[in-house]
Amino acid sequence: MDRGTFTISLDFELFWGVRANRELESYQDRLVAVYTIIPKMLALFQKYNIHVTWATVGFLFYDNIEEIMSDIPDRLPNYLNRDVDPYIYLDSLSPPYSKEFSKLHTASNLISLISSTPNQELATHTYSHFFTYEPLENRDAFIVDIEKAIEVAKNRGYRLKSLVFPRNQVNLDSISKLDLLGLESYRGNPTHWAYCDGDKPSKSILLRIYRLFDTYINISGYHSSEPKPTKGVMELKSSMMLRPYFNKLSFLERLKINRIKKAMRYSAINGENFHLWWHPHNFGKNQEKNLKNLEELLIYFKELNIKYGMLSLTMNEVKDYVNKRD
Ligand SMILES: [Zn+2]
Repeated sequence: MDRGTFTISLDFELFWGVRANRELESYQDRLVAVYTIIPKMLALFQKYNIHVTWATVGFLFYDNIEEIMSDIPDRLPNYLNRDVDPYIYLDSLSPPYSKEFSKLHTASNLISLISSTPNQELATHTYSHFFTYEPLENRDAFIVDIEKAIEVAKNRGYRLKSLVFPRNQVNLDSISKLDLLGLESYRGNPTHWAYCDGDKPSKSILLRIYRLFDTYINISGYHSSEPKPTKGVMELKSSMMLRPYFNKLSFLERLKINRIKKAMRYSAINGENFHLWWHPHNFGKNQEKNLKNLEELLIYFKELNIKYGMLSLTMNEVKDYVNKRD
């Protein structure tokens, strides 16, 4: 790429993304906070003219849980680990579902708000927050899930072109099939050994510690990349996760932000893509501090835009940009 590009992708999932390892009660406040955070994020993206990809779980496109229940796909993933199965969870719920409870599982209003904001791309985070690294009896269930995500969005007037795999569990076997479904880009993982496999179910404590240190000190590098097609679909490797403000290590926040800025600058100078990601619910605690960190990064992007011509592009726009250049 001639000019550096800056991509933000957000994994928008509400309870579906944390359900397998957290109790709703303990995480509810952060999920409720998403309803105030997303409008604030959108306002910042507008203020600095930032193009963002919102990888959204398919269940969120509905108005309420009743609608999810009335539209369950015919073929479901048959996970050996029942704890990760969202359909077993849905089965365990019993009506009536309060409006507040539905809002932790569906978000059609937020989706319309995002899609009506300029330069925001709605993308998919699979229909059911699909875990591709989990052992399954029916391997084709993944593609069935993606088809459903596309259909549910299409019925509501949205065309999805980009995919972010839940837990960054990239399913290489299915990439060639994504192309046939109209998906043109996906978020891959950095090539570095500490990140290349995404989040495996068996992530070791040592790997967690390594990643924590790496958040503050540059151990693993900048992870900027040149997007390339893989089996017909553009792979945009992620660079870094914007980790939430962490009270216990708050004295290191400056290091964290500077580490990201240096990587952004490297991408701007070298004409590569810097791809930052996180989940909106990560900002649910310490909202103001997290939004302040975000704004500082967006202001810095503006500097890089003026100085080096760096562009802010959604995942799908990066795909177009790379294709036009080639
Ligand atoms: Zn997720």
